[in-house]
Amino acid sequence: MMKISLLSESPADEIALRVLVGGVLGGAPVFVQPGLRARGWPNVAQLLPAVIRHLHFNTGAHVLVVVVDADDSAIHTAEHDRPDYFHPRCRMCQLRAIFRQTEKNLPAAHGRSHLLRGVGIAVPAIEAWYLCGADASVTEFAWLDGQSLGVVPYTRADLKMRTYGTDRPNLPHEIKCALQAVARHRHDTRRLENDFPNFAALARDLRTAQAEVAPAPFDQPNGSERTSRPA
Ligand SMILES: [Zn+2]
Repeated sequence: MMKISLLSESPADEIALRVLVGGVLGGAPVFVQPGLRARGWPNVAQLLPAVIRHLHFNTGAHVLVVVVDADDSAIHTAEHDRPDYFHPRCRMCQLRAIFRQTEKNLPAAHGRSHLLRGVGIAVPAIEAWYLCGADASVTEFAWLDGQSLGVVPYTRADLKMRTYGTDRPNLPHEIKCALQAVARHRHDTRRLENDFPNFAALARDLRTAQAEVAPAPFDQPNGSERTSRPA
């Protein structure tokens, strides 16, 4: 069973993200506490190296999922995935680089060489993911078009109003609305992956991790098949 830890910007985000991670993996994963709690960007990036080291050495976690809002940062696009490319104002590029740098010289622990990565960026904020499937005007593409034209299609306050009915929800109300929203994607995250490529990137990371940690039985029709594969 794959053990997952989650680092996000708030306790409400974390509760909703557990549902989405389960939706991608098709089951209820086991969650391990990250040991530290972040409060917004840039605190997530500042804590990330310590969280990676803690999980690697002190827990049996296989994957660390990190999700932050894009806010007004540069949006990660396919162009950024080229080898050796790094955009200093893109949070996806920054977080992936922190994983690479932190894990470069870590010795193996708990029977694994390194902690696997799951990074997602909510564009421009996690409420956009919550509105996916309920408000067709809210997509990552709409936000990117707006950025290039210099006219934002909606503000982060708009997204909060549409999600919570207020731009200053209290925590219980925020959690209730977030859980109602992510319930739409509980068994099928394809719409979210289609409308939000920086969610799709997280889903790819999770499936890669799952294939590495717990290969599906149909991938190994017999025991000899795996060992005969080229390394
Ligand atoms: Zn990037």
